[in-house]
Amino acid sequence: MNTLNVINTYAAYINDYDLRMNSSSGGIFTEIAEHILGKGGIVYGVSMSSDCRQAFFKRIDDIKDLGYLRGSKYLQALVGDTYKAVKKDLEQGLLVLFTGVGCQINGLKCFLGKEFDNLICVDVVCHGAPSQKLWGIYVDALEKKYSGQLISVNFRCKNEGWKNFGVEENTSCKTIFTPKGRNPYMLMFLDNYCLRPSCYECTAKQYKLSDISLADFWGIEKIQPEMNDGNGVSLVITRTTRGDKLLSELLPKMKVAKVAYEDAVKENIAEFRSVTRPTGRDTFFTDLDKLTFEKVKKKYAIPARIPLKHRLKNLVNTLTHSRDEGGLAFRNYGLQMVLKEQKGYAMISNKA
Ligand SMILES: Cc1cc2nc3c(=O)[nH]c(=O)nc-3n(C[C@H](O)[C@H](O)[C@H](O)COP(=O)(O)OP(=O)(O)OC[C@H]3O[C@@H](n4cnc5c(N)ncnc54)[C@H](O)[C@@H]3O)c2cc1C
Ligand code: SF4
Repeated sequence: MNTLNVINTYAAYINDYDLRMNSSSGGIFTEIAEHILGKGGIVYGVSMSSDCRQAFFKRIDDIKDLGYLRGSKYLQALVGDTYKAVKKDLEQGLLVLFTGVGCQINGLKCFLGKEFDNLICVDVVCHGAPSQKLWGIYVDALEKKYSGQLISVNFRCKNEGWKNFGVEENTSCKTIFTPKGRNPYMLMFLDNYCLRPSCYECTAKQYKLSDISLADFWGIEKIQPEMNDGNGVSLVITRTTRGDKLLSELLPKMKVAKVAYEDAVKENIAEFRSVTRPTGRDTFFTDLDKLTFEKVKKKYAIPARIPLKHRLKNLVNTLTHSRDEGGLAFRNYGLQMVLKEQKGYAMISNKA
């Protein structure tokens, strides 16, 4: 564990139900961003391009545009000239919130080369950035299958609950929801075949230069069961006095509980450890070049076999409109990696 730079650790979610449901975890990014915009500041974060092919950094100065940045995009975001734009805003004395994954925060700090009192950096804890190439091939196959263009994608759709999240793809012909344990792109992402080489040796796990870190609070049911309503809880870590002061101003607006860092990260090893590079990673990329997407999918995107008792529990939850986590909690990031690294693929079937 990396207890360096930890001031306070919280489990939290925002009170606005709709904004929380449109956020990946508890919506704390939105609360912080609204606060900065309310003070006349600027927010930088990651948006999808209009053709859904690319994630990129976007500068927002109006609350009505915040929706572009809300939600996780499971792609490496293009930085382009963003660092230069941030520097310009800072030098003009504007209050700036910069959000991204740890290596992007560290990159910005290196680029700036000095501290700015008007800069707040928030990182989202990150288990890795998947290959842009895989996403392009996946979208091609999807658009061909449904004979329509991809118009929008929600990588963290909570229609079946936060822990049972799925991907919602809206094409010009059809809207498709696939649970994460059945979506080929998510399966290859979560099984770590397609991550960038640096993600297997992520230096941003050791050198945290952000003021606040945000993550999913996996394991909340064991630590603050009363907060586990199935709609998403954020893990919030303050790392600097500036970040801690900012968050303390926002705490009264949220549902929040102070927790011990060591307890909070037990099921979220992405906060402090890189994932292991799968032995088949190089073969995966060779296959991606020479096989059809259908063959790559069959070989690498192996759906989870959901035990009968969990399927029944899920069905009951759906019928009673409960949004609680059902029985698929084992498939969350943290547990999935623990299962993979420590117990093998006991729950995974070989059938495509
Ligand atoms: C690639 C990736 C991997 C992640 N891995 C984990 C993990 O292993 N464990 C875990 O607990 N949490 C992980 N997260 C973080 C988690 O999904 C939520 O982003 C976090 O809990 C904040 O949620 P929220 O509800 O407060 O806000 P949301 O509205 O859901 O988050 C929006 C924030 O995410 C940023 N963002 C979105 N997409 C990207 C991107 N492609 N690159 C950089 N920043 C982006 C936006 O700029 C904004 O700051 C990951 C996020 C990403 C993007
Ligand atoms: S795992 Fe590390 S190197 Fe990879 S994208 Fe995330 S922060 Fe960057």
